Amino acid sequence: MAALVEGRTGAWEVIIGLEVHAQIVAEAKLFSGAATAFGAAPNTQVSPVDAAFPGMLPVINRHCVEQAVKTGLGLEAEINLVSVFDRKNYFYADLPPGYQISQYSRPIVGKGKVTLDMPDGTTRAIGITRLHLEQDAGKSLHDQHPALTYVDLNRAGVGLMEIVSEPDLRSAEEAGAYLRKLRSILRYLGTCDGNMEEGSLRCDCNVSVRRPDAPLGTRCEIKNVNSIRYVMQAIEYEARRQIEVIEEGGTVEQETRLFDAGKGVTRPMRSKEHAHDYRYFPDPDLLPLKLDRDWVEALRRTLPELPDAKKARFIAFYGLSAEDAGVLVAERASADYFEAVAKGRDAKLAANWVMVELFGALNRLGLGIEQSPVPAAALGELVDLIRDGTLSGRLAKEVFAAMVETGKGAAAIVEERGLKQVTDSGAIESAIDAVLAAQADKVAEYRAGRDKLFGFFVGQVMKATQGKANPALLNELLRRKLAG
Ligand code: ADP
Ligand code: MG
Repeated sequence: MAALVEGRTGAWEVIIGLEVHAQIVAEAKLFSGAATAFGAAPNTQVSPVDAAFPGMLPVINRHCVEQAVKTGLGLEAEINLVSVFDRKNYFYADLPPGYQISQYSRPIVGKGKVTLDMPDGTTRAIGITRLHLEQDAGKSLHDQHPALTYVDLNRAGVGLMEIVSEPDLRSAEEAGAYLRKLRSILRYLGTCDGNMEEGSLRCDCNVSVRRPDAPLGTRCEIKNVNSIRYVMQAIEYEARRQIEVIEEGGTVEQETRLFDAGKGVTRPMRSKEHAHDYRYFPDPDLLPLKLDRDWVEALRRTLPELPDAKKARFIAFYGLSAEDAGVLVAERASADYFEAVAKGRDAKLAANWVMVELFGALNRLGLGIEQSPVPAAALGELVDLIRDGTLSGRLAKEVFAAMVETGKGAAAIVEERGLKQVTDSGAIESAIDAVLAAQADKVAEYRAGRDKLFGFFVGQVMKATQGKANPALLNELLRRKLAG
C-alpha cells in the first residue's frame, strides 16, 4: 500500500512517472563521428552533420544501438527488431537542423521493469514503458557575455536513451529509489556513466494526485531536474501544490513546469495551449533500424551480473543480510572489492570492515572506492590478523587508520608499531594482579556486590597493557581472580 499524503480534506495518493534522459557511453555521436568527451572547449567537437550543413546525411552509430539494446536487456525489456527514427521538429537556437532525430511510435525497446528494494525488505516492480534513441541538442550559454547568448554545439547530436516509466511510483522516496536503481543498472552495463553533475542523467518528473483508487488526475511535468535530491524535492513540492489547488476548489492545469532549486519550488514554464506541436514524421534520411535476433541474443550473453542477481547471490552465498548486500552491490566496484576481501575469509566480518571502516574512511576523504588508499588485498590481510587473534577489534581500527594514512600493509604496521595483541595469559595475569593490588578498596566493594565495577577493572587492565590485552582472555582471567 502506497504512502498517502494527508490534505485538509482527507488523504491523497501521489502518482509519478519519470522520463530519464541517459547519455550513452560512446566515443562518437549518434549520427556523426564527432567526439563526445565532457568538458572540451566549446564547438571543438562538431561535425558538419551536427551543425546541419546542407547536404549532410546522418549515419547511425552501431555502438550506440548496441548500448541501447544492452540497456533494454538489462531492464528485462522487449527488444523491437524493427524501429523507426522520426524527426521531432522545433525551433531553437541550439538546434541547427530545426529538428531532433528521435523515435516516436516505434522505439527500439518496449516494456520492461526496474525492481525497487523497499525499506521493509519487500520488492516492488516499476514498469518501463519504453526506451528510445534520440539526439541531444546543443547548449545555449547565457553567462559568457552581458548582452549576448552563445551557442556551444559540442553536445548537439550526442546519443541519448530516453527511458520512460509507467506512472507506477507513489512517493518522492520511491522516485529516488527508482533513479538510484536505474543509475546502478546503467553503470553496471556501462551504457551510461550516470553522472548527474555533468548532465549525463537528466530527469523529467510527471506528477499528479488523486483520491485513493480514483482514476488518474491531470499531471504536470517538471522538466530537466538534474539531481536525485532535487527530483525528490520537486515532487514533494508539486504534489502539495496540486493538493492545495484542488482543495481550494480549483483544478490542476496540465502544464510544463521548472524546478527552482534555490527556492525549492516549481513554477510554470508553458501551459497546454502553448504545448509544442512537434509534427513528428519518419526521417527520410534514415531507413528503419532492423536488428538481427541472433545479434540481440549474442549481446544478451555478454551482459554482466546485474545488481539484483548479485544481491541475491551475496545473500545466499555469503550469508549477508539483504540490507548489507544491497549496500555492497549498489556499485559494481564496491561489490568487486568486497568479494576480493571476502574470498576464503569470514564474509560477514569482511562485509563489516568494508561497509563501516572502509566506506567511513572514503567518505571522510571524499574518495571513490576506485581510489581507495587501502587495496582489497591489504584489508583482507587485516581481516586475517583479526581472525587469528593477532589483533583485537580495537587495535585493528588503529591499524586500519594507519593503513589509510600511510598506504602500508596491515602486518607491516603491526610490526612497526608493536600493536600485537597480548594473548599471553601470564602477561595479562600480572597486569591484573597489579591493578587489583592498587585498587584493594574497590575489590572489596565488588566482592560485596557492586558488580558494575567489573567494567572499571577491565578498563584499568586495558590501560596498563596499552589496549593490547586480548579482551576475551582478559575478561576470563579477571573474573577468575575476582572470584578467588
Ligand atoms: P509526453 O510524451 O507528453 O511527456 P507520455 O505519455 O510519454 O507523455 O508520458 C510521459 C510520462 O508521464 C510517463 O512517465 C508516464 O508514466 C507519466 N504519466 C502519464 N500520466 C500520468 C499521470 N496522470 N500522473 C503522473 N504521471 C503520468
Ligand atoms: Mg514528456
